[in-house]
Amino acid sequence: MLPRMKSLRIFLPLAVTFSLSIPAFAASNLPRFYGDAPDEHHPWAIHDGNRPQPAVVTPGSFSTQDQPGKPPSDAKILFDGSSLTKWEADEGVNQATKWIIKDGAMECVPGSGFIRTKEQFGDCQLHVEWAAPTKAEEDSQGRGNSGIFLMGLVEIQVLDNYNNPTYPDGFASSVYGQNPPLVNALRAPGEYQTYDIVFRRPIYKDGKVVDPGYVTVFVNGVLTQDHFPLEGGTGHMGRSHPGPFPEKGPLKLQDHGNPVRYRNIWYRELPPRIVEGSTDGYLSTEATMAKRKQIAASLREDAPKLKNDQDIVPEMSRWMESLVYEKDAAAYQVVEKMSAQYTDSLKALSKEQLAPKKDQIRGVRDAFRFLAKFKIVPQDFPAKVALQKIIDEQGWDKKRK
Ligand code: MG
Repeated sequence: MLPRMKSLRIFLPLAVTFSLSIPAFAASNLPRFYGDAPDEHHPWAIHDGNRPQPAVVTPGSFSTQDQPGKPPSDAKILFDGSSLTKWEADEGVNQATKWIIKDGAMECVPGSGFIRTKEQFGDCQLHVEWAAPTKAEEDSQGRGNSGIFLMGLVEIQVLDNYNNPTYPDGFASSVYGQNPPLVNALRAPGEYQTYDIVFRRPIYKDGKVVDPGYVTVFVNGVLTQDHFPLEGGTGHMGRSHPGPFPEKGPLKLQDHGNPVRYRNIWYRELPPRIVEGSTDGYLSTEATMAKRKQIAASLREDAPKLKNDQDIVPEMSRWMESLVYEKDAAAYQVVEKMSAQYTDSLKALSKEQLAPKKDQIRGVRDAFRFLAKFKIVPQDFPAKVALQKIIDEQGWDKKRK
């Protein structure tokens, strides 16, 4: 029973997703063939039912000025307003910070230095809320200045630019010294501003850049950095220079002499990029073939678990599917043998006995058509021909024109 249950579990989400468009696909154990087959740059077929379902994340809620929102279920909470246990002073080792907690926010104590997370991380979706002092004092870079240092190296500027011009590449949500924000979407000082940041660190291999890294920022829901390619870490007054980054670093918040407050800080780790071994997207031929081999192997491993004395199709379907990802002589022979067995068993049936199997027979025939279309089996593959003959004899294709 267990293998069967496993197969059902895999199919249930598909039934939900695709039930309107292709009920036969979801309601049976037929091969999951639908769109274009895998090719030399894509390990998965188009609309591939074997591709893993996205992980479920329970979304959080949006913040109001009075109340911070709830983070999504897979977020790593760095600061929830209650304690600074995940933070330390940005000096020495294990030094307590002098920043304070007030009204559910952490507040920079001028002169106390940067604060940093004890945890180190790299690529992330980062959520930070901050508020400049309500009373606007000084101007330009002197008003409500702080900063969010990704990996401690790239500053996304925090500054009260509400009716306060400054040099554009030092504006709030600029990539400091590299790129001004697209727009100024700030609220008045004293109000909480929300930064949602997507950060991809630069990746180097053998001293050469393979991905410059990118920053995307939304300020209060408004896009201000649009996948901006980094030029290395940021600094003050000096031109940034691209160069290798570590894999991880602490998140740092800047003490720039203003009592800026922060609340509701969390991040979500991002999956690796293709250059780091991800197999989603347009891959090199080598990576594609390696992944296809892996998918085929897992299907061949799964196939015997679907063995069912009453119905050969579930197990046979898995073997057939495996050929789509990898042409394997042994698996091909299994399909030859099982499909011959299947068609032989059908030939012994009367019209009445065949009738309830109509959908399945046509489904398997369609699967062999798919395999033939992508040259995985020849057009005259015996089971394909035999199934078509049964379908023609029963007149099951008449409505298909
Ligand atoms: Mg700053």
